[in-house]
Amino acid sequence: MSYRQDFDSVVRKVRAHERWFSQSLPMIASENVSSKRVREVLASDLGHRYAEGWPGERVYAGCKYIDQIELEAIALGKRLFRANFVDVRPVSGVVANLSVYSALSSAGDTMMALSIPNGGHISHGKSDFSGSAGLVHSLQIEYFAFDKDEMNIDVDSSVRRIRKLKKSPRLAMFGGSLFLFPHPVKELAPVIEDAGGVVCYDAAHVVGLIAGGVFQDPLREGAKVMTFSTHKTLFGPQGGAIVADEMFAEQIKKAVFPGTTSNHHLHGVAAKAMAFAEFLQFGRRYARDVVRNSQALATALADTGEVVLGERNGYTASHQIAVDVTKYSDGGAMEKTLESQNIIVNRQLLPGDLQAGRHYTNPGGIRLGVAELTRLGMRPGEMQEVAEILHVAMSGAKRREVLVRVKELRKNFQKVKYSFESSPACFFA
Ligand SMILES: *Cc1c(COP(=O)(O)O)cnc(C)c1O
Repeated sequence: MSYRQDFDSVVRKVRAHERWFSQSLPMIASENVSSKRVREVLASDLGHRYAEGWPGERVYAGCKYIDQIELEAIALGKRLFRANFVDVRPVSGVVANLSVYSALSSAGDTMMALSIPNGGHISHGKSDFSGSAGLVHSLQIEYFAFDKDEMNIDVDSSVRRIRKLKKSPRLAMFGGSLFLFPHPVKELAPVIEDAGGVVCYDAAHVVGLIAGGVFQDPLREGAKVMTFSTHKTLFGPQGGAIVADEMFAEQIKKAVFPGTTSNHHLHGVAAKAMAFAEFLQFGRRYARDVVRNSQALATALADTGEVVLGERNGYTASHQIAVDVTKYSDGGAMEKTLESQNIIVNRQLLPGDLQAGRHYTNPGGIRLGVAELTRLGMRPGEMQEVAEILHVAMSGAKRREVLVRVKELRKNFQKVKYSFESSPACFFA
């Protein structure tokens, strides 16, 4: 019995995946591509090693260079986020959030967050929905009030809700997964602190825009802790991190190790350091271009007659666009229709969906992201073409024509830009 065929079969499928993506429009708002050097480091020997603990205080030998790399990642992170404490060990954004919950709250405490249709992430969710905050850390979740015309947190109603709570919030988590406009951290932080809560901000999606200076600056607006993923609007690898006020450093360090991680993926730490350096070099220009592209795409898409949310505020101030697709079908069906035409997006619950009897299999919308297309070098001129292609593709009537247009458009955008060397987006393709 030989398993050679099984082994080769996986390699062939990885190649097929890369070939497919190199001819597609990758528009999932939580995804991006990393540069060749960053990907090489992910395949290095570091990925075989262990280094539990903090640099200089490890419980494993063999960490001479690993410690230097991690300290460099921390120093670069401090500079990038103008923060005095950085922990690069969380292996994902969810693990970063769980670490913060564990560091700063106890089971049964209350946390303010957004509901999922209003943009909250499942890691902020109630245990009824298997949300990590409720299910894993037994937090009680109270929702911020949301104004769907503004597509943002409603400050006055949220203040009233916070003041009326029987049990005052221990934590408040700003940020989310459907995230078009900066949240009112400055306005609500004093109210939350008055009530005895710690203000946190989940920047998983928008951290690159924050570091690039084009969105908001939570740590200067009253947030004491910011968690994020390193692969959505930053330059990879897949992973998480926490930045915080030094006053919480010891609690957070303990919550990360031994609390929520044992080994912390050392190849990822090196890749994070390199991606932070790339972002310090190229991030401001990149972030500016991302927002220009998303605004150009949103406007062009609305001009074709599609229902783009957030119109009152110019559709978007982030890398994301939300489109109501209920005139065609639902977000689940639309996701499949577009995938069959090599346009990769994801379904999205929109404000009001649950009241309308929709849920995550058949939500009212799709979410588009332009971070990856921007990193591949596309500009507002290309966004015009993307909008026209999307409009035709959503009707599903001209599949062949769309496939040709997508392939043609992608032809000249095969390299990862905003990096120290121009490198191909795929290894095998
Ligand atoms: C994506 C996301 C996360 C989770 O990040 P992972 O790195 O996938 O674990 C957490 N919070 C928000 C708001 C997100 O959008």
